[in-house]
Amino acid sequence: MNVLRAKNVSEAIRMQKETNGYFLAGGTYSMVEINSERFDPDCLIDLSLCPELYGIREEEASVHIGALTTFTELEKSELIGRLFPALQKAAAEVGGPQVRNRGTVGGNICAASPAADAATPLLALDATVVAVGVNGERKIPIRKLFLAPRKTCLTPDEVVTEIILPKTGSRSGFIKVGKRNALAVSSINMAVSAVITDGKLTDVRVAAGSCAPTPRLCPRTAACLLADGLNAVPTAQEILMEEISPIDDRWATAEYRRMVAKNMLSALMQEMMEEKA
Ligand SMILES: Cc1cc2nc3c(=O)[nH]c(=O)nc-3n(C[C@H](O)[C@H](O)[C@H](O)COP(=O)(O)OP(=O)(O)OC[C@H]3O[C@@H](n4cnc5c(N)ncnc54)[C@H](O)[C@@H]3O)c2cc1C
Repeated sequence: MNVLRAKNVSEAIRMQKETNGYFLAGGTYSMVEINSERFDPDCLIDLSLCPELYGIREEEASVHIGALTTFTELEKSELIGRLFPALQKAAAEVGGPQVRNRGTVGGNICAASPAADAATPLLALDATVVAVGVNGERKIPIRKLFLAPRKTCLTPDEVVTEIILPKTGSRSGFIKVGKRNALAVSSINMAVSAVITDGKLTDVRVAAGSCAPTPRLCPRTAACLLADGLNAVPTAQEILMEEISPIDDRWATAEYRRMVAKNMLSALMQEMMEEKA
C-alpha cells in the first residue's frame, strides 16, 4: 500500500485522480478497517499537511470548522461551547482521549456511520458541508450528505474542506447512550437545537442517530414541538416513533432504542425550555 502526503487540497485531488486512492485524516476509522481486513486500499492520500483544512474561524453570521478539526479541539473551543453546546458535548463523548486527539469532524461525517456522534448535532445545527473536487466547490446541506450506512453523496475525488454553522442564537443539547460510559459507540444519540424568543419556542430541529440507516433529521417531530412547546412532547414522541426506524443489532434492540429515543426527546426539550439566568 502506498501512502502519499498532499501539501494542499489541490494536490490531494490530483493525487486521488492519478491513483484512485482514498483520503486519510486522523485514521481512527480507516486504520481500524484496514487492520480488520474490511478495507484494502492500494493508496492512501494523507490530508494532514493541507493547511486549508485546519482551524475554527468565526464570521459575522457563521462559524467555519476546518475538516481536520479534532474532537479535542471542538471540546476545548470556547466559541463552540458558547454557540454550539450540542457539538461540544458530542465531541467530548467520542471514544477515549486518544481517539478524540486524532479523530476529526470531517472524518466522522465522511465515514457516514449511522452512529456518528458529530452528525446529529451538525444536523440539528443546520450545518453546510463544503467539498472541493475536480469539478470545483460544492456546498452541501448536511441533511443531503448521508445516503446509506457508510455512504455519502461525495464523489471519490471530493475533499471536505470545512463545515459551516449558521449563528442562529439557538440553544442546543446532545445526549448519547452506549453500552458503557466511555469508549462506547452510540446505541442511540439525539441532538436538539431550539431558538427561544421571549420565552417562546420559535424554531426547533431534532436529529437522531443509530435509529435509522443514516443519522437523520426528524422534521415532523420538530413541527409538532414548535406548535406547542413542552405541552407537545407526548404527541411529538409518537411522531418521532414514525420518523425513526431502529433495528436490533449488537448494540441495542429496536424496542430499547424506541424507548430511549422518547426519553431523550423529553429530556432535551426540558433542557431547551429551562429558564436561563
Ligand atoms: C476506539 C474507537 C472509538 C471510537 N468511538 C467513536 C465514538 O464514540 N463516536 C463516533 O462517532 N466515532 C467513534 N469512532 C470512530 C472514529 O474515531 C470517528 O468516526 C472519527 O471521527 C473518524 O475521523 P478520522 O479523522 O479518524 O477519519 P479517517 O479514518 O481518517 O477517515 C474516515 C473516512 O472519511 C474519509 N475522509 C476523512 N477526511 C476526509 C475529508 N476531509 N474529505 C473527504 N473524505 C474524508 C476517509 O477517506 C475515510 O473513508 C471510534 C473509533 C475507535 C477506533
